[in-house]
Amino acid sequence: VGDSADFDSETESVCPFCGVGCKVSLKVKDGKVKYVEGINGPANEGRLCVKGRFGFDYIHHEHRLTKPLIRREDAPPKGLNVDPGNLLTHFREATWEEAMEAAAGGLAKLRQAHGGQSVAGFGSAKCTNEEAYLFQKLIRQGFKHNNVDHCTRLCHASSVAALIENVGSGAVTATFNEIENADVAIVIGANPVENHPVAATYFKQFTKRGGKLIVMDPRGQGLKRFASHMLQFRPGADVSMLNAIMNVIVEENLYDQQYIEAYTENWEAEKEHLKAFTPEAMEPICGIAPEVIRDVARTFAGANAAMIFWGMGVSQHIHGTDNSRCLISLALMTGQVGRPGSGLHPLRGQNNVQGASDAGLIPMFLPDYRSVTDPEVREDIFGVWGRDEDWSDQKGLTVTEIVDQVYAGNIKGMYIQGENPAMSDPDVDHAREAFAKLEHLVVQDIFLTETACFADVILPASALYEKNGTVSNTNRQVQRVRPAVPPPGEAREDWAITVELAQRLGLPWEYTDVSQVFDEMKQVMPSLDNITWERLKTETVTYPSLSETDPGQAVVFGDGFPRPDGRARFTPASVIPPDEAPDTEYPMIMTTGRQLEHWHTGSMTRRASVLDAVEPEANCSLHPKTLRRLGVEPGDMVRLTTRRGSIDIMARSDRAVSEDMVFVPFAYVEAAANVLTNPAIDPYGKIPEFKFAAVRVEAITRV
Ligand code: SF4
Repeated sequence: VGDSADFDSETESVCPFCGVGCKVSLKVKDGKVKYVEGINGPANEGRLCVKGRFGFDYIHHEHRLTKPLIRREDAPPKGLNVDPGNLLTHFREATWEEAMEAAAGGLAKLRQAHGGQSVAGFGSAKCTNEEAYLFQKLIRQGFKHNNVDHCTRLCHASSVAALIENVGSGAVTATFNEIENADVAIVIGANPVENHPVAATYFKQFTKRGGKLIVMDPRGQGLKRFASHMLQFRPGADVSMLNAIMNVIVEENLYDQQYIEAYTENWEAEKEHLKAFTPEAMEPICGIAPEVIRDVARTFAGANAAMIFWGMGVSQHIHGTDNSRCLISLALMTGQVGRPGSGLHPLRGQNNVQGASDAGLIPMFLPDYRSVTDPEVREDIFGVWGRDEDWSDQKGLTVTEIVDQVYAGNIKGMYIQGENPAMSDPDVDHAREAFAKLEHLVVQDIFLTETACFADVILPASALYEKNGTVSNTNRQVQRVRPAVPPPGEAREDWAITVELAQRLGLPWEYTDVSQVFDEMKQVMPSLDNITWERLKTETVTYPSLSETDPGQAVVFGDGFPRPDGRARFTPASVIPPDEAPDTEYPMIMTTGRQLEHWHTGSMTRRASVLDAVEPEANCSLHPKTLRRLGVEPGDMVRLTTRRGSIDIMARSDRAVSEDMVFVPFAYVEAAANVLTNPAIDPYGKIPEFKFAAVRVEAITRV
């Protein structure tokens, strides 16, 4: 970072990538962000990872959308066949007036001809709380149904389902920084060193102070060398391993009887259920030796204060909700919720996936996770939005269900803001075929994403460093973002675009400032009590905040849960195998995830010069013995084939994966991992099984 003479202005905001929510200071010179410095936010205390520090110049990339675009009448058929550097072959530039008329006119025409159900919406966890709130309100008020969702469905939907079911709240019970008060922590199905790097620094410090870190992951990872126990269990075998740990805690009477009696229900059923899951019986399924299971059980149950962190290795399975149910049961039976240094913490992925979910950008819940089917909740909302008897009281469709209905021709129009389902959906060729069938697709984004290639109208939007509003991180911390630079060209802030679209669809919206949206959210979201726009100008506030001077509660549920009788619930989980098993045709296991340098579908980080220089080419990880068996050198190309399709990709040697496994990052369009992934979903969270597919790996010649 240079000294103050090197820049014209400094603006405080929040990193746009992961759910850690690091606070940053943006140094601007000649209208461009030149440096990013970590500042003293509660989640990062000045720290940043490589993405936050160096991954900012995508906002000035030549591919930024700067004018509204309308698909040309003589454009080739819809597909990924658009060059982001030369998109006028498929689109023509338009005025905002013309583009908004086309966008709203097309959606209104479908509503008139086929009813509101013919239009659905995907909002974004990359946008602010206010933008997420407005987006779900537009779909609900404008089209009279709840078919609105976002990428939480592909991320932690199963964790949220289990948390709401068993502890009554979908957010973390303790901030990750609470690990400083813990003496034992489990990290399962998460790779924080790559995906939540600043959180990982706190986890490493915890071990330096003598804390015991139990890492559970089918893949080796950066926290392995800090771990007291590293359990590389078989992919998809989480429930068998976790039930075996809990079996030991029951058999050896290591549970907290007093806590269980005071704060939980259904314990006897859980206890009975666990009897069959002895470590010996589970070893053939999970691959972990009984003595290791016993040692982990004794270590966790013997802790004074213990936390459990998990990521998408837990959630992205057809038994993702069961995986989370096990983790919740483990914490409850040992009384490890509600005290300093204890708690349940699903590490949220996107920078604002917590906030977007809180704001109601999900098909079954209104803001603050209040059920769309509850008449009292609807009355509450009517009091603020105005009476609307026509608005459906049925749960809406989720991301993958909406795509299936698009494919079937029942949904004919979509409004997609800042999401890239043509890269992120499982079995993505199916999703792309579906989007090509849409009669009217409005995409609002900062780049010509793969999804925007299928659009009829493209509305140029703003990056986070160009926005005003609030975001909520994995810790439930609400923070202000502020514009360091204006959006380029004619691009606009997302909330303003949504407001104008709503007005053109006939909704009586009168917002002129984003703070008015926040004030309205407070009327329907008790979680924001005592958090004001004024406070957020100078403070980060963790919800719940008990008074206008309370910075918020880092740990919640010390004295009961927001469930009937204040009791959390044990929900027993049985072993359900992955949806497809390897066989002779597809003998290996494929799992997907992120890399340190690239974020999700790559639309931002692959246009960030430093990050792209470090990690420029699509790659997959194979064990060195597997490479030898295939006759492949690191850097050679391999072909990965599943029951859905094939990709060609460069192979890397990586001892972190087992010999029967391949790891594929999903950021690369030229070798899109999601061409291969299995769309089978968890029945509760409706999350696809991204973490397990049967795959064939073959050597090929690089062309
Ligand atoms: Fe950004 Fe997450 Fe890195 Fe912090 S840890 S700088 S929020 S990507």
